[in-house]
Amino acid sequence: MIYYRELNLDRASEARKDRIWLEQQWTGAQCRVCFVRNDKSLMSRDADATNIPHVVHLPRTEIEKLGSELEQAVFLGLDRNGPLFALDVSHHQDEVLADYIGDNEFIDLRDVGWLLDKQQAAQLAYARGLVFWNRNHRYCGICGSPTRSEYGGHMRLCSDSSCARMHFPRTDPAVIMLVEDLSDSNHPRCLLARNSRFPSRMMSTLAGFVDPLESLEETVVREVFEECGVRVEQIEYQASQPWPFPSSIMLGFRARAITRDIVVDGVEIEEAYWFEAEQLKQFGEWGDGGDYFCLPRRDSIARYLVESWISEVS
Ligand SMILES: [Zn+2]
Repeated sequence: MIYYRELNLDRASEARKDRIWLEQQWTGAQCRVCFVRNDKSLMSRDADATNIPHVVHLPRTEIEKLGSELEQAVFLGLDRNGPLFALDVSHHQDEVLADYIGDNEFIDLRDVGWLLDKQQAAQLAYARGLVFWNRNHRYCGICGSPTRSEYGGHMRLCSDSSCARMHFPRTDPAVIMLVEDLSDSNHPRCLLARNSRFPSRMMSTLAGFVDPLESLEETVVREVFEECGVRVEQIEYQASQPWPFPSSIMLGFRARAITRDIVVDGVEIEEAYWFEAEQLKQFGEWGDGGDYFCLPRRDSIARYLVESWISEVS
C-alpha cells in the first residue's frame, strides 16, 4: 500500500480560478476547514486504547472569530459533503485556538500517517504541502514584491503590476531505488542503507534528488554509486508517491547491481549492507524499542519497494 496518493477530492482545478465561485465555496454553509499549524495538522484521537488519529473538519461558520479571509485559506477540493479548505493558523496563539483544540491536538503527520485512514492521510498531506508552499512564497522571486494568493492558494501573483509574475507550487522529483543482487540465484539480496538523518536501526532503500538535466535513470545510477559505491543497470520504474514533506514526489525504481562491494561515504550514509529476504523478515518496526534493524516506516514508498521485493523472491 502506498500512502498519500489517490486523493478522492474533486480538485476543481478550473473552477478554482474563478474568484466568485471560490468566494461562494468559502462562505457557503457546507464549507469546512482543516487547520495546519507549523506543519502539524489538527487531529482527534479515538478515546479507546487504539488512540487512532482522525482528521478534524471544522465548519467554517464556527471559526469566524479568527477573522480568516479566503486569501488566507487554501482550497483543497470538493467531496460529497461540500468544499474543503486548509487554513494556516501558525500565527495564532494557543488561547485563540483553545476552542478548536479542546480534546484535539496538533500532530505531525509524519509521526502517525500510516495509522490514519488512507484518504484522510492523503488529505492532510495535501493540506500541509500547500500551506507550506504558500507560507514560503510570500515574496516574488523576480522583483521581491509581496505576492498574493490566487486560485484558492494554488497560484501566487506578484503584487507589482509591472512584474505580475505568476508563481505556481513546485514539486521536486526524487528517485528512490531498491538495488538487488541476483548473482547467486539461490540467494537474491537487496541493498539497504542507513542515512545519518534516519532514526537509529532504520535501514532503507537509497534515494536522492534529480539534478538539472539528468534523466531519472541517470540519477539512479549516480546516487547508488555516490552513496554506496555500487554500479547498477536494468533500471525499471515501479511506482510513485507524492511526498509533500515539504514538496517532493518520490519516483520508485528497481535496479540490478553489477558490482557488489559497498563503500559508504560515512557522512550521508553511515552503513549499508546486502540483505536476503529471510533476514528482512526479522526486522522490527520503527519505534518498537527492539535492538535489531527496523524496516522503513509503513507510510513510505521505501517500505512498499522492500515488501514487494520480499514477496517476489520468497
Ligand atoms: Zn515580481
